[in-house]
Amino acid sequence: MDTRELLEWSARYHTPNYGRTPICLVRGDGMRVWDSDGREYLDFAAGIAVVGLGHCHPRVTGAIREAAATLLHVSNLYHTAPQIHLAKLLCEHSFADRVFFCNSGAEANEAAIKLARKYAKERFASDRYEVIATRNSFHGRTLATVTATGQEKYQHGFEPLVPGFKHVPYNDLRAMERAIDSRTAAILVEPIQGEGGVNVPDDDYLPGLRKLCDESGALLILDEVQTGVGRTGRLWAYEHAGIEPDVMTLAKALANGVPMGAMLAREDVARALTPGSHASTFGGTPFVASVALATLTTVLDEKIPERAARVGRHLVEGLRALRAGAPAVREIRGRGLLIGIELDRPAGPVVDRCREAGLLALTAGERVLRLAPPLIVEPADCDRALGILATALGGAA
Ligand SMILES: *Cc1c(COP(=O)(O)O)cnc(C)c1O
Repeated sequence: MDTRELLEWSARYHTPNYGRTPICLVRGDGMRVWDSDGREYLDFAAGIAVVGLGHCHPRVTGAIREAAATLLHVSNLYHTAPQIHLAKLLCEHSFADRVFFCNSGAEANEAAIKLARKYAKERFASDRYEVIATRNSFHGRTLATVTATGQEKYQHGFEPLVPGFKHVPYNDLRAMERAIDSRTAAILVEPIQGEGGVNVPDDDYLPGLRKLCDESGALLILDEVQTGVGRTGRLWAYEHAGIEPDVMTLAKALANGVPMGAMLAREDVARALTPGSHASTFGGTPFVASVALATLTTVLDEKIPERAARVGRHLVEGLRALRAGAPAVREIRGRGLLIGIELDRPAGPVVDRCREAGLLALTAGERVLRLAPPLIVEPADCDRALGILATALGGAA
């Protein structure tokens, strides 16, 4: 099928809510994807930090084949072994005691917000339902999660928003302290702001939030939808801070591209979700749970987080070296393989130039170019990407 015609149909039949790139991707393998004209791309986007193990990883593909031929779906009215094994594995490798499965990051955050409200009302007072989130955050596109998202551009036109949310600047403990009161049910933050520009907080930020929550009784909800499953060089980003949250949300990389979300919580908090209080038709079906199980066991067996830390250092060193010849670069920041390159100009045209030269990258906000390659990326792939970036950034100067 002719690519031009496909793109015409896309423009005609889709709701126009995406600003899509004019290529049509047809196949992927490891670090690489191919478009409908046969052009090859080195993928430093990984979806949007989704395919942590790369495209069509054999263990993931094997799990998909086997699960599809065994039992695709039954409802959560029944038990299924893959879902139980996955919940157990997640708990054994995190702070959490219990897991709720859903289908996306927004749904995981929606569940966390509902849980926080129910827990705080039952435990403290009926008017204790507020959630404090941060400016420049991103938590999803449902009405509650877009309200939690501290960026007006995502909310515009969808008002009235959901009551019970406040926003304070990110990485500002004093502002958070001032915002907490007797109505605060929870603080909701990303350990590193992803969409908001790969903003890494100071080392004392998450421990400071933990302390504020301990003092006030508010729950600490960490949105690890983007940072979780090894992306930052630890299995969970909160491990860098030496603290544990009360609730954590996951999605993106959890099943390496098959849609899945999860909300993890401590025992006494999770108990607020009494039978019938929350549910999802598709959440944690045997199919998707099998794929997540294959993904997570591979991440653990092959020490993928350590690998992300190591190759991430190599990539950042290369970027710092490249900076000398690229005056458009203001700052390089990030952790593991979640890296932001802040520019003095819009990042979109640089991403376009990279793509034209065979490299897929992302933006994060207006002026930040974001790199989030599959965690299986080799140093040699980084060196190739750096070559393309040097040219693309040079052209921006
Ligand atoms: C992508 C993302 C979400 C939303 O996930 P969806 O699966 O698109 O609903 C929420 N929080 C963070 C931190 C994200 O990066």
